[in-house]
Amino acid sequence: MVYGRQSVLVTGGAGFLGSHLCDRLIAEGAHVLCIDNFFTGNRANIEHLHGHPQFELIRHDVTFPLYVEVGHIYNLACPASPIYYQHDPVQTTKTSVHGAINMLGLAKRTNARILQASTSEVYGDPSIHPQPESYWGNVNPIGIRSCYDEGKRCAETLFFDYHRQHDLEIKVVRIFNTYGPRMHPQDGRVVSNFIMQALRGDPITIYGDGQQTRSFCYVDDLIDGFVRFMATSADFTGPLNLGNPGEFSMIELAEAVIELTNSRSELTREPLPQDDPKQRRPDISLAQSKLGGWEPKTPLREGLAKTIDYFDGLLKSGQIN
Ligand code: NAD
Ligand code: UDP
Ligand code: UDP
Repeated sequence: MVYGRQSVLVTGGAGFLGSHLCDRLIAEGAHVLCIDNFFTGNRANIEHLHGHPQFELIRHDVTFPLYVEVGHIYNLACPASPIYYQHDPVQTTKTSVHGAINMLGLAKRTNARILQASTSEVYGDPSIHPQPESYWGNVNPIGIRSCYDEGKRCAETLFFDYHRQHDLEIKVVRIFNTYGPRMHPQDGRVVSNFIMQALRGDPITIYGDGQQTRSFCYVDDLIDGFVRFMATSADFTGPLNLGNPGEFSMIELAEAVIELTNSRSELTREPLPQDDPKQRRPDISLAQSKLGGWEPKTPLREGLAKTIDYFDGLLKSGQIN
């Protein structure tokens, strides 16, 4: 993709996905403006980019207006894991809703193309499986996950209304569970929990009976999908599912992590959290047809091995304990 002289804005650029996106855009020759309030982001994720002539960082909260000149916007700012987004649920909704309004206002003024990081959570606890983009979802509007799910749903509404009302070039991507290096080791999500538990030899916590399923996409495959989506023709807005359709139960995931870490950890049962979806798998046929042959390339075990190396490095260097 040719980005020209105008900067590419990445909100939430110090986070897990955002930092990988900054790397990819810089490698493609883009000038990247990264903004982040460091709520869940980590300076270490972008430390290697400090001083890079194509990289600029601003500490900023997307719930406040931002006046900069940019040609493309990737709006990723939002805590993504339940323990963080439930910490201050009102701020989570504000981040999705006020953040979307501000970034759409910015896109409108600068005539920038804008991508929204939406989520498979807009499908809630789905009654259709796997989930195509045409499925409207089954979301509890008043539960403990609602600040995230409904915030993201409202952001999608805003994107489509700015598109219809103001002709904005929008791209809405619904991301399914993604994992890889730079995930938070303590974010409570299943991949990070299981790997950390296995590396420490602690019991592996299976919530419920462990038969619930998820599909796990390796970060590089997802970022490749983002960049290809941004380059599609203006009339293709999405929403577009991106994820890896390989579906695993939590028991199967635990077994793979134990094997790859050579861990002595045993499985232990804990209660299933409220509103925990029983199954989730993306239907990626639209992405396969629209993104020029895009397809997740990294098998689960290969991606897990890279993620395990990353967490192991953090433990061995004493950055976490
Ligand atoms: P992350 O928590 O690592 O990154 C989010 C970043 O946004 C962090 O750096 C955080 O500090 C920043 N942020 C949060 N609130 C902000 C605010 N008000 N202003 C400015 N910055 C703010 O999470 P991630 O996994 O990299 O997720 C990135 C995006 O992708 C999120 O929008 C998330 O909802 C979406 N997503 C991620 C996944 C996944 O599996 N990782 C799945 C679905 C959707
Ligand atoms: N906005 C911004 N940067 C800009 C332009 C707008 O942050 O460069 C914010 C501004 O705070 C505004 C919001 O985006 O409230 C929505 O902008 P829009 O032009 O759609 O609406 P209005 O300014 O009329 O409220
Ligand atoms: N889970 C688990 N043990 C853990 C953490 C999570 O069994 O230590 C389960 C959780 O109940 C859910 C699945 O793993 O069914 C994925 O959880 P995560 O929070 O990673 O993602 P999400 O529910 O948002 O898809």
